[in-house]
Amino acid sequence: MHEFAEARGAMAAMIRSGDLAGLLRQAEGFHGHLCPMLLLGVKAGQYAMKRLDHHHHGMEEVVALVETNNCFTDGIQVVTGCTFGNNALIFKDLGKTAVTIARRDDGAAVRLTVRPDYREQLFARYPAVGPLFEKVVVQRAGTHEDIHRFQHLWAAVARRELEVPLEEQLLVAELTITLPPFARIYDSVICAACGESVMAPKAVTHEGRPTCRACAGQNFALLTGDGIICPGEA
Ligand SMILES: [Zn+2]
Ligand SMILES: [Zn+2]
Repeated sequence: MHEFAEARGAMAAMIRSGDLAGLLRQAEGFHGHLCPMLLLGVKAGQYAMKRLDHHHHGMEEVVALVETNNCFTDGIQVVTGCTFGNNALIFKDLGKTAVTIARRDDGAAVRLTVRPDYREQLFARYPAVGPLFEKVVVQRAGTHEDIHRFQHLWAAVARRELEVPLEEQLLVAELTITLPPFARIYDSVICAACGESVMAPKAVTHEGRPTCRACAGQNFALLTGDGIICPGEA
């Protein structure tokens, strides 16, 4: 057997067999807590990877295009293996809890979006959760006890939601897309001010010497909880 074949072997087996509970455990370890949006990311990732039936090695053979950086996206990263670090995760700053997962060789893709009424659905299924969510998450006004109770409830809800049919939670479409090109490999330069190595296209010329944007006092984009922020651009 090929020496790399086993790196994602356990994940691939769970995807094939539909072991959502096993995949959710992996995702929880990565994400740090258990929540319904993480679970939906896991379900979306499992569905698409099984449908596309493509075992991969994190070399951009499969690409996930996510449209928001929330809990959902962590479920996607763990299950699909398309991550921030291996360049197979593309971020579209649209603020939608949605993902398109595509095979590079033929562009076959599955797009999954969380149903617009999902939150109402959820609070209708678990009436105790809504008011607590409002207090703890939305208003950030919960006591320690409220927060603790909420975390337990929220994790329990995520586990229960494993059993809910996918179609009730997510909208699914199959399509063919044109994928962004493979990530390029760039040379590095040494910043004349801090001495650190910088990807050449990210460096600027400052006082005649290659300099990182931070040392040159230039703006650069930030990916934060608010999405991509470009300081200095209105
Ligand atoms: Zn979460
Ligand atoms: Zn520097």
